[in-house]
Amino acid sequence: MIQLYMPLHFLGFVYREIRHALADMEKMFGLLHEHREIADAPDARILQPDQAEVRFEHVGFGYGPDRQILFDVDFSILAGQTVAVVGASGAGKSTLSRLLFRFYDMQQGRILINGQDIRAVTQASLRAAIGIVPQDTVLFNDTIYYNIAYGRPEATRAEIMAAAQAAHIHGFIESLPQGYDSMVGERGLKLSGGEKQRVAIARAILKNPAILIFDEATSALDSKSEKAIQAELHGIARNRTTLIIAHRLSTVVEADQILVMDKGRIIERGTHRELLMLNGVYAQMWNLQKQEEMSDSVY
Ligand code: ATP
Repeated sequence: MIQLYMPLHFLGFVYREIRHALADMEKMFGLLHEHREIADAPDARILQPDQAEVRFEHVGFGYGPDRQILFDVDFSILAGQTVAVVGASGAGKSTLSRLLFRFYDMQQGRILINGQDIRAVTQASLRAAIGIVPQDTVLFNDTIYYNIAYGRPEATRAEIMAAAQAAHIHGFIESLPQGYDSMVGERGLKLSGGEKQRVAIARAILKNPAILIFDEATSALDSKSEKAIQAELHGIARNRTTLIIAHRLSTVVEADQILVMDKGRIIERGTHRELLMLNGVYAQMWNLQKQEEMSDSVY
């Protein structure tokens, strides 16, 4: 029996390694295929942000030549501050994060980090400076340990556990029969939306980037998980330059600045208080959401 077990065990190991490589390659080629037009400038420098100030300067952009998506988008996020973007579906909110990560290049204007045009620095140094917590976190068919370590593959086990603790997912992981070695993803344990976001938050904590992009999930989590995720987000956004793409207004109340977008333009900007006083689109959205919450609590 043992004679049969050893080769099978070895085969299993080889299979897992190959699958790893394939999943990573698929991801890499997916990105290369989709974004092959983005290249480093021949004299690209290395971006070195400790404290990063992000500036969108009169940015105009369309995914194709026939449809402009962003028009003259102009704002700054001061080092360590949080800017939240709200607006109707399709207004162009997530497109801002794709441009900052340089998945695409804009056609008009520029984006600066500490005064450096992002097209003049290497993509590797740009992407190392930015952590993204996306709407839908992709989990690899691998252990939960591997999935968190993906944020910084050379991290130690203690660092990975500390990141999981900060993202409040350590307790959950420890409660699984195989702990950090539990398989997740399509062929493993299915994690809930909130658990997946926590994995993404743990990855971002591990990466420790100067700039954080949080693209809030469109589908609502239950209100307890949502509040917990918001609290964890506050924790990692502290002292980090943060862009929040928000789908719920409760997420943005404490932002240093809120941008209200409509059809690719910023139509209002200010703090939560300032925007309520303005009594415009944001105030209407806020009142509507309050009414919905009240009727939800009645039924
Ligand atoms: P939501 O709140 O629904 O996430 P959003 O404000 O984040 O919306 P974006 O994802 O920025 O909106 O999309 C803005 C517009 O750009 C939409 O009309 C969308 O259809 C279009 N768009 C997004 N991605 C692409 C793409 N890869 N190719 C072409 N058009 C796209």
